[in-house]
Amino acid sequence: MAATARFWRELSHRYNLVGTHCRKCDSYFFPPRDVCPKCRRGGDVEEYKFKGVGEIVTFTVVHQGKKDLNRRLPYVLAIVKLEEGPCLLAEVMCDPEEIRVGMRVRAAFRKIGEDGERGIIYYGTKFVPALT
Ligand SMILES: [Zn+2]
Repeated sequence: MAATARFWRELSHRYNLVGTHCRKCDSYFFPPRDVCPKCRRGGDVEEYKFKGVGEIVTFTVVHQGKKDLNRRLPYVLAIVKLEEGPCLLAEVMCDPEEIRVGMRVRAAFRKIGEDGERGIIYYGTKFVPALT
């Protein structure tokens, strides 16, 4: 049961882009870390909900996958660098022709359960192009 609870807690973190922030050195972490790797025991770590704004560092267009009603092919997977610093792997919901390195994106926050299971488990938060 503990493993299940942990799984759901982590899922919730991924879905809501909740990480941690160290008040001492002002570093941000995603996924959340209980201890600041820079300050170790001297750190002062708090939960932090990311604003969900960032830019594309690199990306790949996925053309193949299991047949899945919840997943259109092809789709875009990208490393997104959040404004606060951390990077994460996420799906970007846009036309594969449209995606560019450096493109601004924002998180499309959704409730757990709205999406297909694969989307939740593998990618958590999805991003959409941000209008700048
Ligand atoms: Zn720190």
